[in-house]
Amino acid sequence: MLLYIIFIYLFYTINCEGWSYNDKANWASSFPQCGGQLQSPINIDKRTVRYAPFGFFIDNYDRTYNLRVQNNGDTAVLTFANTGGNRPSLQFDDHKYNSPRYILENVHVHWGKSYLQGSEHSIDNQFAAAELHFVHYNQKYGNFQDAVTQSDGLVVASVLMALTYNPNNNLDWLIGAVKHINPYNSTVYISSNSNFYLDNLLPRDRRSVFRYRGSLTTPPCYESVTWLVFETPINICRDQLNQFRQLREKSTNNESGHPLLDNRRSIQSNNDRIVQSSNPKYQ
Ligand SMILES: [Zn+2]
Repeated sequence: MLLYIIFIYLFYTINCEGWSYNDKANWASSFPQCGGQLQSPINIDKRTVRYAPFGFFIDNYDRTYNLRVQNNGDTAVLTFANTGGNRPSLQFDDHKYNSPRYILENVHVHWGKSYLQGSEHSIDNQFAAAELHFVHYNQKYGNFQDAVTQSDGLVVASVLMALTYNPNNNLDWLIGAVKHINPYNSTVYISSNSNFYLDNLLPRDRRSVFRYRGSLTTPPCYESVTWLVFETPINICRDQLNQFRQLREKSTNNESGHPLLDNRRSIQSNNDRIVQSSNPKYQ
């Protein structure tokens, strides 16, 4: 009986999500959407970017929240510890009177084996050291799970992180939390009494953003994402980046597991998609 329980436990931990970064070339065989035409990430080729006069608003990014920071085996993910309340949100200004509001569901991070190649998106084939994703769902669907399969379901705001010599003190709360979640599935909390503002994780210069239609960058790769990639990066230094690399992958036993050194999907075909920019310099 004990053996049976152990077997079930192992089976569950290996297959509960059914994918891993070690197997990313084969994602499409188990998750057909990963082989679709609107996949992310992409390289943003500035020569083909088209100016579009769109803007966006963010709300409640300047408030503090009770946040949960978890090592889920694939990344460090920030979620809201309390349900309800006025969460941070994002709205485009394309349709002035009926533009949907997108509610922040989570924030997570991607990095790589190389300090110079840790982002998922690239701009003119240049990668950044890491990439932050702010995942928002369309309020009209009520929750993330119901929005994630809809073509207008999600907006993911992406912030590239450029490697610098000096630490970025705006990351202190996040890095401090990540230091405590090295084992797979461990969690810490950031109190609303802290002075951790999500707004500080966005670049100061928000005038230049790229926008395109794409997908989740992890299985099941649903093509439900409007991507908003900030052209201006924020900074991160080596020591800060190394804290993410201390996180352990999903493990099949109680040992500490392998370090999660790479959680980035490779560049996907653009397939003639148009990348828009809000910056008139692309006119
Ligand atoms: Zn992501």
